[in-house]
Amino acid sequence: MEKKILIIEDEKELAEILGEYLKVEGYEAILAPDGKEGLALLSRYLPDLVILDIMLPGMDGMEVCRRIREKHEIPIIMLSAKSGEMDKVICLGIGADDYVTKPFSPLELVARVKAHLRRAPKGGEGPDTERLILKRESYTAYADGQVLELTTKEFEMLYFLKKHENQVFSKEQLYESIWGMNEFGDISSVAVYIKRIREKLRAHSMDYIKTVWGVGYKFFAEE
Ligand code: CA
Repeated sequence: MEKKILIIEDEKELAEILGEYLKVEGYEAILAPDGKEGLALLSRYLPDLVILDIMLPGMDGMEVCRRIREKHEIPIIMLSAKSGEMDKVICLGIGADDYVTKPFSPLELVARVKAHLRRAPKGGEGPDTERLILKRESYTAYADGQVLELTTKEFEMLYFLKKHENQVFSKEQLYESIWGMNEFGDISSVAVYIKRIREKLRAHSMDYIKTVWGVGYKFFAEE
């Protein structure tokens, strides 16, 4: 099925050019001239990604972004006429995944669209019926619908284990997956992180991190 991209942009010509480039790449482009229409089309078509201009008539792009984030986890790429660092920080802070400054080349934007769609939820995310939900784009974890407070590294480790459910990893493998080969550190910190993640999960009666004696750890959520 064609992936759907919603473009919320009041500059008609720019929106149409982007739409053409996306169509060439096999995507379906849906165009909205303002935030209100954009939000309506979002609920109707449930696109796979949103390209969102900041300067829009009526509701501005930042407000649109906030409203999308209240209900949806889809990737959002924001477009701005300003190259202000502050705008970028604000956009990423309210849940946008990327930020592109005008003028930009349509090809560059299409490349970013592809990259974000490759990263879009799968694997570790799981259906919403699962008790433990990990949202990679926002680094948010939910246990039985409640936010589970995790540090960035704790999140990454849990995400990695959950993504490879039932696969056993040694401490060395986990260390490398989270900190990378080139970072100097202490392998024993893996055990410390595992202990903390376990305690947080157990507070929700989720005994999902198993020790495989002499080998390492694995994620297994028994039903
Ligand atoms: Ca605009």
